[in-house]
Amino acid sequence: MNRNKREKEFYSLDVGDSTFTVLKRYQNLRPIGSGAQGIVCSAYDHNLERNVAIKKLSRPFQNQTHAKRAYRELVLMKCVNHKNEHVIATISPHTLPPPTLCATRYLVMELMDANLCQVIQMELDHERLSYLLYQMLCGIKHLHSAGIIHRDLKPSNIVVKSDCTLKILDFGLARTAATGLLMTPYVVTRYYRAPEVILGMGYQANVDVWSVGCIMAEMVRGSVLFPGTDHIDQWNKVIEQLGTPSQEFLMKLNQSVRTYVENRPRYAGYSFEKLFPDVLFPPDSEHSKLKASQARDLLSKMLVIDASKRISVEEALQHPYINVWYDPAEVEAPPPLISDQKLEEREHTVEEWKELIYKEVLDWEERTKSNVIRGQPTPLGYKVALEVADVSASSVRAACLNRLWVTLIGGWS
Ligand code: AMP
Repeated sequence: MNRNKREKEFYSLDVGDSTFTVLKRYQNLRPIGSGAQGIVCSAYDHNLERNVAIKKLSRPFQNQTHAKRAYRELVLMKCVNHKNEHVIATISPHTLPPPTLCATRYLVMELMDANLCQVIQMELDHERLSYLLYQMLCGIKHLHSAGIIHRDLKPSNIVVKSDCTLKILDFGLARTAATGLLMTPYVVTRYYRAPEVILGMGYQANVDVWSVGCIMAEMVRGSVLFPGTDHIDQWNKVIEQLGTPSQEFLMKLNQSVRTYVENRPRYAGYSFEKLFPDVLFPPDSEHSKLKASQARDLLSKMLVIDASKRISVEEALQHPYINVWYDPAEVEAPPPLISDQKLEEREHTVEEWKELIYKEVLDWEERTKSNVIRGQPTPLGYKVALEVADVSASSVRAACLNRLWVTLIGGWS
């Protein structure tokens, strides 16, 4: 297709301070959220005849870190395919604008109803709470099976639909991302980061279980469990509530971090009965006391400072509070094959990243050209329903299907 013709397929629209340049098939753009990477709009996709979410990555090539993140997300989205993950199910052909036309990249995915921050404000019963946690754990297990350890799960990066289905939006920190206590502080949400991440230690897969524990605690309490004001205060908040960790744990820290940690005041911490008394749990079922004690037991096994003593994802999925939902097809989904084995180690200049991303996008278009999946409905497998506060556009959203439609439509600056 010649360039003029392709340019005519696109139009531009101002959304807040940003201009979206998208294919004409996407209409009625409305802002619905923003994150570290950019702005997200809802839109109506005339080809698929349903609402979608379009994310504009702002300035993905402003520096090497941003460019690497954009590349990593792109490669992982192409490979990962699980219903609890932000997955690229298909890419329509001819969606790549000529590079001169667009200054950023756009991702299109299934429109969800709310992020988890909004859900935390709601009074959830045990059924919904445990089902949301189950799906988080399934999504995480699937990532782990591909060797991707997230390390940065947070409610703003998890979205849900009114049918209580849940998706994780991102792939977390790259393996090479530095995080520790002695790093220069920069503005980022750390409330959900595990002690081993805050303290810059080695980590294993159950680093993500800590984050699920923090999210669960927030859903139960209605407020952030460890609201640290900066990376040092984050550690203070943890030990104030859970107590100063044992000498055995301190011995695992590197010398400078250990000196810092040992010089903090000592805290005895509180029991889980005190931290999460019965009144915080929903009194919804005949067995509410049993459910509350199961939920508390799960929290006490996830919120363990020493990772070697913390429950694993697999154990959490088998926990009585969660395993009522256990479906082998979901939990044991085949692991995704990551196409770029050097993904985490790669270091490039911004120009090289652009080149790599361009190749990925073209490859993606090529592979899916003859295999465009149109909007055929899949059955609504509602397990439990969730009344999300803002379901104003839900007449169409209610028809949203229990699967993910993602299309990459962007280029780069
Ligand atoms: P992100 O930039 O991916 O962190 O997304 C920022 C915010 O946009 C999220 O916290 C959600 O509120 C919203 N959002 C992102 N993707 C979607 C989606 N597919 N459906 C509904 N809301 C979304």
